[in-house]
Amino acid sequence: MRPVRVLSVTPEIHPLIKTGGLADVAGALPKALPPLGVEMRSIVPGYPRVLQHAGSGEPQHSFRDFFGGDARILRTVIDGLDLYVLDAPHLYDRPGSPYQSPEGMDWADNDFRFAGLAFAGSEIGLGRVGAWRPDVVHAHDWQAGLAPAYLALSGQSRPATVITLHNLAFQGQFPAHRLRDLRLPPESWSPDGVEYYQSLGFLKAGLHYADRITTVSPTYAREIQTPETGMGMQGLLKKRAADLLGIVNGIDDMIWDPATDPHLAARYTARRLASRASNKRALRERFGLDAGHDGPLIGVVTRLTWQKGMDLLLEVLPNWLALGGQVALLGSGDAALEWGFADAKHAHAGQVGCVFGYDEGLSHLIQGGADMILAPSRFEPCGLTQLYGLRYGAVPVVARVGGLADTVVDANEAALDDGIATGVQFAPVTAAALDDALLRAATLYRQKKIWRAIQRRGMSRKLGWPHRAEAYASLYRSLLPSAAHG
Ligand code: ADP
Repeated sequence: MRPVRVLSVTPEIHPLIKTGGLADVAGALPKALPPLGVEMRSIVPGYPRVLQHAGSGEPQHSFRDFFGGDARILRTVIDGLDLYVLDAPHLYDRPGSPYQSPEGMDWADNDFRFAGLAFAGSEIGLGRVGAWRPDVVHAHDWQAGLAPAYLALSGQSRPATVITLHNLAFQGQFPAHRLRDLRLPPESWSPDGVEYYQSLGFLKAGLHYADRITTVSPTYAREIQTPETGMGMQGLLKKRAADLLGIVNGIDDMIWDPATDPHLAARYTARRLASRASNKRALRERFGLDAGHDGPLIGVVTRLTWQKGMDLLLEVLPNWLALGGQVALLGSGDAALEWGFADAKHAHAGQVGCVFGYDEGLSHLIQGGADMILAPSRFEPCGLTQLYGLRYGAVPVVARVGGLADTVVDANEAALDDGIATGVQFAPVTAAALDDALLRAATLYRQKKIWRAIQRRGMSRKLGWPHRAEAYASLYRSLLPSAAHG
């Protein structure tokens, strides 16, 4: 049997270009699929950073007047990724991030830039680029949202389509008058099409036209059907509930491995947890925390935004410190939160330490040295820090939302009795509930045998991509015409 062929249409792919978790998924999935009988190729925009690596790719196709200029599709293999690169200098050859100018403004032609990506993906999907024709086209987020629309509206025999939602907060809405320029037919301008509250909605289009929708955890898949978390899309997502599926993200367990991690002061395994003490010492030193403490040290690695709930930590901080706890926080974001934590560090020197900025190496040391890792998010599609915490024996203390709810088993009495607990969860996402959770965590921490068992159980969880990719592979297989009839 030949492999199932899947084209991934993605605005980011690790290690070439990354602004968030989407890039990790898009970069890891193609490598995990071949043993499962799936061949995945990816199409990505030819940003300067991508062309630096892929510029010498083999030209496969050229377009005249492609959304305002000439364009080519190059084909290349980089770091095990089989890539189509959309070389369209008028769309992508500019400085800044994939979405914004160096001054932090969204590019005014983002609709053309990502309609171009989706359109090129749909051309490959229809078999018009080279000989390879996918069975499934898999679009990621609003940037690729028009790919299922172009395919459904093509009137041709088309591959099946999937869209994955990584973050519903970004929806890609553009002015209605661009409909024709974006090569969308007039009949697509309808609530049963690309129209979204009088504007042209890229994500909306993807959610409407794709055969299946996935998001990055089962709980988030349920939550986004409610007004609280649906960000306006809840009606459509509810209508499509039968086609909506949550698949938790995997982690790269080669990079995130405490037995080999070069960022740690001491490497360790679940059987040699005592070595974590050296990492805790190094962490305390790095964050200016008192060494002579025997209390729990909670680590935080986060963007400082409302979503992540760090204002709640500030509220309950005095109680945590009164329990003998310490805090090591690495994060950057909202100025008010940075000031709040800077004040707390000043007021509680030796017990609260902060580093404001982005530091990959330090984030590893926090996972390897902190006793707990905190994620009090108000919403969380999947979340990675709690997964790294599990892998590193930093027991996650998390809000019971989204992917946090799906990946951490709360250490309630029943779970402790059954030997399945891996962390502490709390709900609702309030300061009072967080306060209770921290008290519970501190109490567990002092029961050394129980604590070790919780750490070891987390460390033994299968969190890597090979495990997760199976769910995508069976989704793709379920979409093959033979599956529909069989
Ligand atoms: P989100 O994608 O919403 O920011 P996730 O938990 O899914 O949240 O992923 C965040 C990723 O970014 C994790 O890999 C985390 O370790 C990393 N990260 C976040 N903030 C920092 C920081 N200040 N320094 C280093 N790594 C960070």
